[in-house]
Amino acid sequence: MKLWLSCHDASRTMSEGMDRELGLLERGTLRMHLMICGACHRVQGQFAFLREAARRYPEALPDESPSDTDAARHRR
Ligand SMILES: [Zn+2]
Repeated sequence: MKLWLSCHDASRTMSEGMDRELGLLERGTLRMHLMICGACHRVQGQFAFLREAARRYPEALPDESPSDTDAARHRR
């Protein structure tokens, strides 16, 4: 595990954080990167928003029930 993340690593770690709980070291290195990188800081805000939205409104996510929406679309 690198202590200094590239933007690529940072965004990958953030995306993995959507699916699973990040380890202490992962969170630490990610936080260090976000402190010095404004671009990734903004991306992280979007991930945080998505994560919050998914938790509050799971039914609003299109990939939660793809068969339902597809079936509804075909019927029209
Ligand atoms: Zn970055």
